[in-house]
Amino acid sequence: MTRTPLIAGNWKMNTNLAEAEQLAAATARAAADLLDRDVMIAPPFTAIAQVADLLHDSRVILAAQNICWAEKGAFTGEISPPMLKELGVSMAIVGHSERRHIFGESDALINRRVTGAMEHQLVPVLCIGETLDERESERTKAVLEKQLRAGLVEITVNDPAALVLAYEPVWAIGTGKTAAPAEAQEIHAFIRKLLAAMFEKDIASQIRILYGGSVVPDNIDALMGQEDVDGALVGGAALKAESFERIIHFNG
Ligand code: PEP
Repeated sequence: MTRTPLIAGNWKMNTNLAEAEQLAAATARAAADLLDRDVMIAPPFTAIAQVADLLHDSRVILAAQNICWAEKGAFTGEISPPMLKELGVSMAIVGHSERRHIFGESDALINRRVTGAMEHQLVPVLCIGETLDERESERTKAVLEKQLRAGLVEITVNDPAALVLAYEPVWAIGTGKTAAPAEAQEIHAFIRKLLAAMFEKDIASQIRILYGGSVVPDNIDALMGQEDVDGALVGGAALKAESFERIIHFNG
């Protein structure tokens, strides 16, 4: 059983068009020789068309930072799966903690986004993670189980490549604090056990689980050395071409 590592860059609400083009071109160059791993970037929606052109013929996968479930209609501010597919997008981040905590997205809404993405053969990267308060009151596993089960209600997974999970402790996102590699491993193993209870064992063992939260060149190797850490979702460090290049060239 092999899980191809996936390093994903989430640019959030950063980059103007010129910066996006430069960063995308640099990432495409940096990823050109990496045949044993996948590299994904999620630019802001405003830059997706230009970035798609630049990534044409590259090894870099294009993702959206969010996705609606509906194909079209009265959904002001949302972007549909066919709109994204038309631009060459093949993956979408769903349930990022900033969507949950700043914009109030519920597990039920996130489940609709996951469902919509999968119905259109777009791969959702479903993010789950506990806040500092939940961690300090020892509710981490209960919170993760609730977010995972609710996010995947009525989802069937026949192909393990059709779904990616990201464990992103909220206290580690953009804070410079990272889960210790052994701690990340313990949580990833827990998530995999939950997946095994929800899906067929063979499928659960092959679904990729990324770690996210202040991943930088200095900690990527140790994180990727953990058995159940299959990649990383990277925010700040994905905005600098040199640091993202080092991260995608992890040894682990
Ligand atoms: C993220 O955006 O998902 C993230 C993990 O950000 P950062 O790497 O900056 O902590």
